[in-house]
Amino acid sequence: MTAEILSVGTEILLGNITNTNARYLSEECAMLGISCYYQVTVGDNEERLAGVIRAALDRSDVVFLSGGLGPTEDDLTKETLAKVLGRGMYEDPAIRAGIEDYFEKTGRRHMAANNLKQALVIDGAMILDNPNGTAPGMLIKTDAGKIVVLMPGPPGEMIPMFRDKVKPYLESLTPGTLYSRTLKICGIGESGVAEMLQDIIDAQTNPTIAPYAKTGEVHLRVTALAKDAAEGEALVAPMIEKIRERLGENIYTMEDETMEEHLVRLLKEKNMTITTAESCTGGLLAGTLVNVAGASDVFRQGFITYDNQVKHNVLGVKEETLRRFGAVSRQCAEEMALGAAKAAGADAAISVTGIAGPGGGTLEKPVGLVYIGCVVGGEVTVEECRLRGSRQKIRELTVKRAMNRMRLCLDR
Ligand code: ATP
Ligand code: MG
Repeated sequence: MTAEILSVGTEILLGNITNTNARYLSEECAMLGISCYYQVTVGDNEERLAGVIRAALDRSDVVFLSGGLGPTEDDLTKETLAKVLGRGMYEDPAIRAGIEDYFEKTGRRHMAANNLKQALVIDGAMILDNPNGTAPGMLIKTDAGKIVVLMPGPPGEMIPMFRDKVKPYLESLTPGTLYSRTLKICGIGESGVAEMLQDIIDAQTNPTIAPYAKTGEVHLRVTALAKDAAEGEALVAPMIEKIRERLGENIYTMEDETMEEHLVRLLKEKNMTITTAESCTGGLLAGTLVNVAGASDVFRQGFITYDNQVKHNVLGVKEETLRRFGAVSRQCAEEMALGAAKAAGADAAISVTGIAGPGGGTLEKPVGLVYIGCVVGGEVTVEECRLRGSRQKIRELTVKRAMNRMRLCLDR
């Protein structure tokens, strides 16, 4: 089955918004085993929109449309689609009542007549409720047997609609089920992973393996086509075992959790507290940990010690260390971590000191040189990293590497 994603909106063409809907739908198609061959973005213009709908219906089995379902003049996706399909529209009383009810509940007294245009449904369409907005979506089977899915533009409306209504429908069309597990890897890059698994990847049939590069990590999705979940698991398990043998501790999780969630969970399981001492990341590490709900069980305090004098005053980094080795050094990272653990009375501590750039690098200490110190139970280790990218990228990569280093220390 082939699919095509049509994103409607002049805002996307102008670069005012990022087309996250297309990315989401593409990823979902891949997981459903549907081949997405085209992504088209078109402005709020009837003629051009009709043109791309015709082209999509010509060459793809499933056409996703997002955007332009709203009440305003420039929202014309539904009307245009109806014209292209040669179908009429009718007002659905239940949707109308829903819109009126929505306005009442959200306290907006005045409902413009325009809003009622959202109660119009294309003849023969299956209605997809929109509990997060007023414009319902639609799923239409064309006379030629193609499927058109019409969804609202706001991701907060489109994603739940896809997940709850569209996805189950598409799944029902494919004979088997696609069963997948994701391995999350940190510590080796995408090309490194590909190299280590080359023969496995080359020989893949069912299950298949697909790597996805993320910031500072690689996700490996192993997907099997099976008759049910149990058979899927049976197909996927030996493959995962093989990958685990190769990648070992570089795999940090197979659960649906981020690195920070994983780290907080590990600390909770071990009943340990953690603190952070940050220089070049300026609080980004602490902020990332605090993103996890329930982080307060393990994280009580963090230090941002940007200036050398503060590293000395607050964390007790020796002036001698700073003079001899500099702030960006193995020694400083070590003393920062030990000092932070002591000052906060925490069981574990992560320290970060490095050169985020773009300026400040030397031949000996280039931009991207970062030292990460980890203290667990009084023992300290330091990792030297040489990262590349913009200032922001280096700071993000540092945070990821620091969390990864800590989870490795905790596992030992
Ligand atoms: P509304 O009823 O809010 O007008 P709509 O279905 O008419 O919804 P649009 O008017 O096209 O959708 O877009 C509304 C908003 O939804 C945009 O301002 C943007 O924030 C978001 N949006 C639309 N399309 C996309 C997209 N492809 N990716 C990410 N966000 C999008
Ligand atoms: Mg709109």
